[in-house]
Amino acid sequence: MTAAHIPTQMRAWVLHGPEDIRIDERAVPGIGPSEVLVRVGSVGVCGSDKHFYQHGRASSDVVTEPVVLGHEFGGTIVAVGEAVDDSRIGERVAVEPLVPDWTSREARAGRYNIDPSQKFFGVPGLDGGLAEYVAVPQGNAHAIPDTVSDNAAAMVETISVALNGVEKAALPIGAQVLIAGAGPVGLFVAQLCHAAGAGRVGIVEPNSARREIAAKLGCEAFESLDDAFGDVHAFIECTGVETVRHDGFYKVRPGGRVVFIGVGGDDASVPMSQVIEREITLHGVMRYAFTWPTVIGMLANGNVDADSLVSRELNFDHAVEAWTDPDAGEIKTVIRVG
Ligand SMILES: [Zn+2]
Repeated sequence: MTAAHIPTQMRAWVLHGPEDIRIDERAVPGIGPSEVLVRVGSVGVCGSDKHFYQHGRASSDVVTEPVVLGHEFGGTIVAVGEAVDDSRIGERVAVEPLVPDWTSREARAGRYNIDPSQKFFGVPGLDGGLAEYVAVPQGNAHAIPDTVSDNAAAMVETISVALNGVEKAALPIGAQVLIAGAGPVGLFVAQLCHAAGAGRVGIVEPNSARREIAAKLGCEAFESLDDAFGDVHAFIECTGVETVRHDGFYKVRPGGRVVFIGVGGDDASVPMSQVIEREITLHGVMRYAFTWPTVIGMLANGNVDADSLVSRELNFDHAVEAWTDPDAGEIKTVIRVG
């Protein structure tokens, strides 16, 4: 079933190689029986998108053929496959870009985010959201209420990473937490720690403008890790900086947790005496599983604010500026497609 006025051709920002991104004319994707066609509203720009643009790779994903970037997006359903209820046409949605392989061992155990056969929109192998239309499996398109903006819908992805990290921290009520990095992920981690009943939330961030935003969100903000308080229940690392990864262990109380969200170098040193003698638990964070309904609910209830973290909006034609014209005060750049 289709709403009226879907063209056959569309425009998409296609990354052809390092520092080579262009608007290409493409066919509007067809939809399978269990898919929906989304007219894209907003797309968030992520650090990994910048790595793809600059180096043609991010973590272990390498650009070997042209790819449409964009894994943080939402929009409006304009057509549905034959197995999807027609009533979804016109629904506003936030799209989960992770496509699980539901036959896999990890997905069956409820951990589809750590299944190696998962697919992901906006990385090589599956074109992403920086296009006028995207076809997605119906289960990946989550309805949002009218009170959640298009920009917030795009940021459900980032908030989901933060939520997974805070869940890994397993905070008791009234916990003391220290976060490294006040970028979008760190600032969402801070908001979620407050929502989870933390008593004291500190954040370490060298950029003073970002520290001010963190302070407005109820955090104690510190310029360096040395200045920050210790004895925390959890240290949540959102920078990927090697020295920060290492030094954070000394901020954690005995029996505490160190949670690694930030992506950085492949190797980092770990003070093993801290881990062994004080029984510190290390936890990695890979994307998320089953977080969209929770995050959408928190946005709708005002437990988390996403809109205030949008530092720049670019329209579709100017999307390349997200990469070529860095914004000094950047928190989250959002591209408006629709
Ligand atoms: Zn991202």
